[in-house]
Amino acid sequence: MNEHSLFCRYALLPEGWAENVRIRTDAEGVTVDVEKDSKASGSEQVHGFVLPGMPNLHSHGFQYLMAGLTGPSTAANDHFWSWRKTMYRLAGLLSPEQYEDCLAWVYLNMLRAGYTGCAEFHYLHHAPDGRPYANRAEMSLRVLAAARRVGMPLTLLPVLYCRSGFTSPDCAPEQRRFCHDLDDYLALLEACQSELSGDNTQALGMAPHSLRAVPDHALKALFRSGLRPMPVHIHIAEQTGEVEQCVEHTGARPVEWLLEQMPVDASWCLVHATHLSNQERSRAASTGATIGLCPSTEADLGDGMFAMEPWLAMGGRFGLGSDSNTRVSVAEEIRLLEYEARLVSRRRNVLAQGRCSSAETLYGRAASGGARALGQATGSIDPGRRADLVELDMAHPLLGGLNPEQVLDAWVFAGSEDMIRSVWVAARPVIQSGRHLDEAILERRFRAVVREVRQR
Ligand SMILES: [Zn+2]
Repeated sequence: MNEHSLFCRYALLPEGWAENVRIRTDAEGVTVDVEKDSKASGSEQVHGFVLPGMPNLHSHGFQYLMAGLTGPSTAANDHFWSWRKTMYRLAGLLSPEQYEDCLAWVYLNMLRAGYTGCAEFHYLHHAPDGRPYANRAEMSLRVLAAARRVGMPLTLLPVLYCRSGFTSPDCAPEQRRFCHDLDDYLALLEACQSELSGDNTQALGMAPHSLRAVPDHALKALFRSGLRPMPVHIHIAEQTGEVEQCVEHTGARPVEWLLEQMPVDASWCLVHATHLSNQERSRAASTGATIGLCPSTEADLGDGMFAMEPWLAMGGRFGLGSDSNTRVSVAEEIRLLEYEARLVSRRRNVLAQGRCSSAETLYGRAASGGARALGQATGSIDPGRRADLVELDMAHPLLGGLNPEQVLDAWVFAGSEDMIRSVWVAARPVIQSGRHLDEAILERRFRAVVREVRQR
C-alpha cells in the first residue's frame, strides 16, 4: 500500500476530540502527520467518531470454545480450580488445524469489538500425547497464521510452563501439552522469532506462566539468556489461594517476590495482579510495569477485584485483556472496571480524571498501556504510531445528536460492538459496515471445530 490519508470528521487525539482531522500514513501504515481543521480533498472520508484501536494484552484464544459452558453443570461452591479442569479437557483435544480455525474466528471477533492487536498467551505447544510436533513451533505458527488470516496484529507470547505447582518437580499428565524445560523453551523462542511476518504487525515476547508453574532457578536463568529486550508477561496474584501458596513456599507474596528477585521494569506486564498489598501496589507502580486487567474473566472466575482507584491515583499503567474470551467486548471490559469501582465506593464516575469522563480516562490509558505491553507502536493517533483506528457509527440510534465528548460514554455504558462501523489496521480497512470480508468462511470453519470438539 502506498501513502494514504484518511479524513475524519471527528477523531480522538491525545489532547482530546478534534474536528476535520486528516491522518496521513506511509506505506507501512504508520502515521506520518495529523492535521486538525483540515480539508477532505483527496482523502478517504470517514463520517463517524474515530478512536485509536484498543490493544488486547491478554488472550487464550482457544478458551472461547468454553464460552457459556462452564457454569450451569458445576457445583454451587464452584471456583477457579474446577474451571481449570474443564479447560484442561478441551486443551487435550485440539489439533493444529482446529486451533488455527478457532483462533482466526476469535481474532475476527476481536476486530469487530474494536481490538486492533492481541497478545496471545500461548501454552498449547505439543501434540495431545505430550510429544513435540516435528516442527517444535507448529502450534505457535498456527497462532501467527490465524492472526495473519484476519489482519489482526499479534504479539506472540510462547509460555514457559515447567511444573504443576510450587512443590511439584514437573507437569501433571493433563498439562503435558504445555511443558518445556528451559533449553527447549529457548529453542522455541528462537524458532518463533524467524517466523514473524517481518512487518510492524507481529512481535514476540516471553511469558513465564506463573510463579507456581516456573521454578525460581528457571525464571532467573531465563533472564540470563540474553534474550531481552522483549515484552515479558506473567500471570500473578490472580487468586488468594495462589498468594497463600506463594507465601508458604517462598516466604513472600507473589508480587513482592517478583519485585525483589526479578528485573521488573516497563517492559513487563503483570497479568491480573488482583491481590496486592499497599506496599506491593506502590512498588509495582514505580517500576513502570503494566497491569493486565481482564475484568470479565476475573468476574467469571470469581478471582476478586483489582483496586483501580489507588492504582490510577499513583499513575500506574494498565491495559485490557479478553483472557478466556467468554466475552469479547472492549466496551464491556471498561464498563466493568468503572462499575466495580462504583459498587465498592458507592459513588459515580469514580475513575474519571481531569476534564475527561471515566470512559475517556480509562479508554486512553488502557490503549497506551496495552500498546506498551504488546511492544507495538500503537494506542494513540499520533505521528510514529501505526494507524489502527476504530469508527463508531454516527448512524447508530443511541449516538444521534451527541457531541464527541459524550460518545465514548454512550458506547462504554450503553453499547458494544453494535456501535462499531469500521476498523483499520495499519491504515487498511479490516472491518467495514460491521463485517469482516472473510466472515462467512471463517464462521463455517469455527462451527465445524465446535461440532467436532463437543462430540468428543
Ligand atoms: Zn491468562
